[in-house]
Amino acid sequence: MRYLSTRGHADRKRFCEILLEGLAPDGGLYLPESYPQVNSAELAKLRKAWNSQGYAALAFEVLSLYIDDIPATDLRALCDKTYTEASFGTREIVPLKLLKTKAMAGAQVSLEALSNGPTLAFKDMAMQLLGNLFEYELARRNAELNILGATSGDTGSAAEYAMRGKKGVRVFMTSPQGRMSPFQQAQMFSLLDENIHNIAIEGVFDDCQDIVKAVSNDLDFKRKYKIGTVNSINWARLLAQVVYYFAGYFQATHSDSQKVSFSVPSGNFGNVCAGHVARMMGLPIEQLIVATNENDVLDEFFKTGVYRVRGSADTHETSSPSMDISKASNFERFVFDLLQRDAARTKNLFHDQLNQQGQFDLGQDPLFEAAQSKFGFLSGKSTHADRLKTIQDIFADNRIMIDTHTADGLKVAIPLAKPGVPMLVLETALPIKFAASLVEALGRQPDCPAKFEGIELLPRRVHVMPLSVDAVKAYIVKHCD
Ligand SMILES: *Cc1c(COP(=O)(O)O)cnc(C)c1O
Repeated sequence: MRYLSTRGHADRKRFCEILLEGLAPDGGLYLPESYPQVNSAELAKLRKAWNSQGYAALAFEVLSLYIDDIPATDLRALCDKTYTEASFGTREIVPLKLLKTKAMAGAQVSLEALSNGPTLAFKDMAMQLLGNLFEYELARRNAELNILGATSGDTGSAAEYAMRGKKGVRVFMTSPQGRMSPFQQAQMFSLLDENIHNIAIEGVFDDCQDIVKAVSNDLDFKRKYKIGTVNSINWARLLAQVVYYFAGYFQATHSDSQKVSFSVPSGNFGNVCAGHVARMMGLPIEQLIVATNENDVLDEFFKTGVYRVRGSADTHETSSPSMDISKASNFERFVFDLLQRDAARTKNLFHDQLNQQGQFDLGQDPLFEAAQSKFGFLSGKSTHADRLKTIQDIFADNRIMIDTHTADGLKVAIPLAKPGVPMLVLETALPIKFAASLVEALGRQPDCPAKFEGIELLPRRVHVMPLSVDAVKAYIVKHCD
């Protein structure tokens, strides 16, 4: 299996070559040259792996279709080490919970629980594997990596919990001082591992991102200090996410002739793009539903064909903050497929048109119609009031508390659910991470999993720093010796 760039660069790379990289050299995103096809015999084999041996075995089978430069026994060991009951709370790793509610006449709607990992958000599903893959590959190369990132909450904590204690890796994670939820701050700052560095910047999230960009654009510094990232455009993260679409399908169906739909709370289009990949492989998915909050860049595209990047002034701060995006960094992968893999056109849209006009319009293009008809995409959006109402309804009918992001997914899914096609809503975080909104909706604190009881009281390790690129660089230099 070789990987290519969505913008047409001539290089073809193998999995481990792109594992530690970000963008392709031409600024495009990596995708496999073609999607391996899962025919009915192979789907039956995957179902059997899931039924008899569980998630880690399924992950190994799916990853093996894309990774041919890690020996099978090693890859199997990495999957076994990653997807354990100890890390993810249940033997199923991603169990389904069937919901009851009056609004879903005759339709079967379930939550697929993706957020029982170490940081209680679905990003653990991919990041935990990435941590083990990084450690493995860096050891093979006898190399080191310093991960520099910016986070508003979920990504940073998932990255830190994945990389803590890993040989050859250090994490330097910037975050806007005082702006993450109290639980998120406690989660990150209570990590005392030597290779984890929390840097609280006196600024907002965009300032943190600007610092990361400025450091990464200093190519000499980047090379000398082996700076890398773990952002959501990393192909390995996306690939790891493909697995739980299969696991959800096998739990919701008993025959491979059945179809299911997925509703995905979306921001950077990474999660739902993994669903797209699963569907392209032949997993019987009827609909892929892109659910957004008030930051509706993606909903607008799927309704009109217009992709219009927002400025920071019209990016809303919402109560589902992990979906507060101004542009969707993985979206180029889907558009490349929509345009029948025309790299020149993809480059023109994402490089030229977006830079010059801040938007492009495929509404009049005959290919746009395929987004729904051929690729199965539907979309919808939700508001703060919708989230509160959905949290209340689900609690009233099921005694289950859901978080605000999952509420966005449910709100959009319910009217689109059809009898006979199970609807799986991806649960992307646990409510304790966004406790203030739960208190607003239900008048009570969400449950805190036992392993995080009292986390606010633990000693903390965080360095507060002014908004300065040089200060961050100096800090990295000091801690790299
Ligand atoms: C990151 C995140 C999302 C958005 O996922 P994308 O892959 O960026 O679309 C949704 N919900 C939660 C809780 C998240 O942390």
